Amino acid sequence: MTEADKSIQFQYRSPEIEKMPRNELEALQLSKLKTAVGWALRTPHYGRVLPAAGIKSPDDIRSLADIRKIPFTTKEDLRKGFPYGFVSVPLEDVVRLHASSGTTGTPTTIYYNSADLKRWADYMARCITGAGCTKSDVLQNMISYGLFTGGLGMHSGGEEAGLMVIPSAAGNTSRQFKLMQDYGTTVVHSTPSFLLHVEAKMREEGVSRDSIKLKKAFAGAEPYSEDTRRRIEKLLQIDVYNSYGISEMNGPGVAFECQAKDGMHLWEDGYIGEIVDPKTMEPVKDGETGELILTCLCREATPILRYRTRDLTGFYTEPCKCGRTHRRLRRMTGRTDDMLIINGVNVFPTQIEEVVMGMKEVGNNYLIVLEKEGVLDRLIVKVEVGPDIFVDDSRPMNALKEKIRKTLQTTITVNPRVELHESGSLPISEGKAKRVQDNRPKDI
Ligand code: ADP
Ligand code: ZN
Repeated sequence: MTEADKSIQFQYRSPEIEKMPRNELEALQLSKLKTAVGWALRTPHYGRVLPAAGIKSPDDIRSLADIRKIPFTTKEDLRKGFPYGFVSVPLEDVVRLHASSGTTGTPTTIYYNSADLKRWADYMARCITGAGCTKSDVLQNMISYGLFTGGLGMHSGGEEAGLMVIPSAAGNTSRQFKLMQDYGTTVVHSTPSFLLHVEAKMREEGVSRDSIKLKKAFAGAEPYSEDTRRRIEKLLQIDVYNSYGISEMNGPGVAFECQAKDGMHLWEDGYIGEIVDPKTMEPVKDGETGELILTCLCREATPILRYRTRDLTGFYTEPCKCGRTHRRLRRMTGRTDDMLIINGVNVFPTQIEEVVMGMKEVGNNYLIVLEKEGVLDRLIVKVEVGPDIFVDDSRPMNALKEKIRKTLQTTITVNPRVELHESGSLPISEGKAKRVQDNRPKDI
């Protein structure tokens, strides 16, 4: 039985803030926004762009609506500002940095002073407590450490919430369940794709469910469907909580599901969220989907205002059962820049995931490949079958292939070629899953 089926005893780390009446929360946001604008004015980038937009001092922000006077910040701006264009404190006060990998260009780098790190750990601890964990939980942090924010971010939050943290990092699957057995792990943090891999490996190596005490998983860092969540919950008999983070807003701990598991509470005393139409950049109507814009209110060393996340989501309009007043974000359908254009049709990889992960005959992994055939694009969907199914058995295989092909064609209106592969044979990645291989020649 999952937590949602039971009558839940909701728990809070900072109930006075988490359940603060909206008018007080908004007053708090306004005062923190002014502080953040003050920090930003000290950076070379905002020191230039804010006065040009008429904001010369924090007092030029008089209401929350005035946030719209602030220009958007893009990843490109951060790259142009490399290395110190967004830093607002003397470098001697910086105690840590995190950076994107930089394999696709100049890295974007975020700097933290010690108060920033404390605040980040506090938001993260709020998420962990809100997901029902207590000091007696053992958290195995199965995600990359290093420049990536997921590892150290969750690690510090776990310690702050009083859990015992095992810094196992990602990879080395067999060692992961050995650690779970040895130390009685009750909760893991991972990407959903790695969790599915761990589960498949456990079955392959005959590790019994009874030998581990796992109760929960925090899954995030990449988009995944509700079907994938249900699949992980069923296979591992645990509760899975969706976790949203982005390095420009510190990393994990920005928005997280509470015990109701029904949308991710955005900590609005730490981050201001807006949803805009990515074409017009105007706000969408309440509850509609658009691009998430985030302003960081809790980091002095690298303040970032109105950041274009490219993530597509929307706010729930109904209040949450838990009584928190901080609004909830819906599961993200992907980023605007993840969208594939296949023979002129727009397709999000998550639409394909919803179809394949919803079928019980399908295993835990899939891959989307795009090729050029003459002038046309060809979509190939490679799908692993479940561990008890043999790909050599041609009749049921053909029927399954046809079922996947037809369902995909109806949902995405593109006719794919479907390939079935043995369980465990498609590539897995230790970090974020690489679900798309686009082999089409790039336009010059
Ligand atoms: P990068 O930009 O290199 O991927 P980040 O670690 O900052 O580095 O990744 C943040 C991005 O990861 C988000 O903008 C979002 O696209 C994705 N992401 C993180 N958590 C989730 C989640 N729970 N659901 C969907 N996407 C997520
Ligand atoms: Zn809630």
